[in-house]
Amino acid sequence: MNKTDIRSYSLDQLENIVSSFGEPKFKAKQIYQWIWQKGAMNFEQMTNLSKKLREELNNAFTFNTLIRTHQQQSIDGTVKTGWQLQDNSIIESVLIPVPKDNRYTLCVSSQVGCSLACAFCATGQLKKVRNLTDYEIFEQFLKVNSMSKEIYGHQLTNIVYMGMGEPLLNYNNVVKSIDKITNPLAFGYSTKRITLSTSGITKGIVRLADDDIKVNIALSLHAADDDKRSKIMPINETNKLRDVIDALKYMYDKNKPRIGFEYIMFKDFNDSIEDANKLMKLTKFFPVKVNIIEYNYVEGVNLKKASDEKVNKFAKYLVDHGVMTTVRRSRGKDIDAACGQLANKIENK
Ligand code: SAH
Ligand code: SF4
Repeated sequence: MNKTDIRSYSLDQLENIVSSFGEPKFKAKQIYQWIWQKGAMNFEQMTNLSKKLREELNNAFTFNTLIRTHQQQSIDGTVKTGWQLQDNSIIESVLIPVPKDNRYTLCVSSQVGCSLACAFCATGQLKKVRNLTDYEIFEQFLKVNSMSKEIYGHQLTNIVYMGMGEPLLNYNNVVKSIDKITNPLAFGYSTKRITLSTSGITKGIVRLADDDIKVNIALSLHAADDDKRSKIMPINETNKLRDVIDALKYMYDKNKPRIGFEYIMFKDFNDSIEDANKLMKLTKFFPVKVNIIEYNYVEGVNLKKASDEKVNKFAKYLVDHGVMTTVRRSRGKDIDAACGQLANKIENK
């Protein structure tokens, strides 16, 4: 029989478990701290538990740790790592170093594949989908944090939920993972260092506000009117732009997160000044920064990247009209680690 991963239990449940072994309840808290505050990944490490308890735990439970399947380092320093999960699914995490700014960012996956099938995204082409557990997300953070220290001598400074999957369709586990990463007794990351990227799940955005989750938000906008957006992002048919913007405004009014609009520029699709005008209208409801992203090639996709000239013109137009705008060049393209490229080479393995 497969043993259950000890990390799937809440503190209350751990108390029941230690009681069933005839141990005092406070032992549960120690186990909890080993897991979530010290990042333990086996029972041996839990040296303040008796040897007997450690053995009993080891006989009954396990840690299904992530198994590294591949790792590639880009010429720009970006490191992509593939992990095999207990059910043999594969996910990827990306470490993006910017030493000159002292910034070491983890791009974390939240699902295996993605059900939303955006026209331009490799992850959306993967069929198999399941939600990652909170500990599968947390462990990507632990492992890449160690990696960052090893390779660059610096721990992670930022975390972006921009890997595989739509984080707001895995709301509970994503929020639990944020809670674990920001736990003041452990890594104590400020939610200000965490950015959640979403294709625009209205209900999820409202829920983040209601639950007081104060992370920054990146909206994958990519088109500034419903017709165009629905053509490349099917999720837009049920989550119309107006509703998504209203949800973001609700979140902004409540917790003042930093909000960004991600905008991949596609040739002859969303790269005109008329498109820029429409985009501008969406920036009036709360402070927002527009991030123009270069389209990264994905096999089988019918869209092309906009010319540099168009990108520059579009960006200048926004800036001239008072919209904070940056143009982001992709990182890790040579190793398929750039936005939207995750997993496009995995399926055939
Ligand atoms: N599902 C979430 C988060 C993961 S996608 C979301 O869609 O926001 C992370 C980012 O990569 C998103 O902004 C997404 O739109 C972008 N992306 C997807 N495919 C891309 C591609 N081929 N080139 C550039 N960016 C891409
Ligand atoms: Fe899913 Fe985001 Fe890719 Fe769309 S862009 S398919 S929402 S991972």
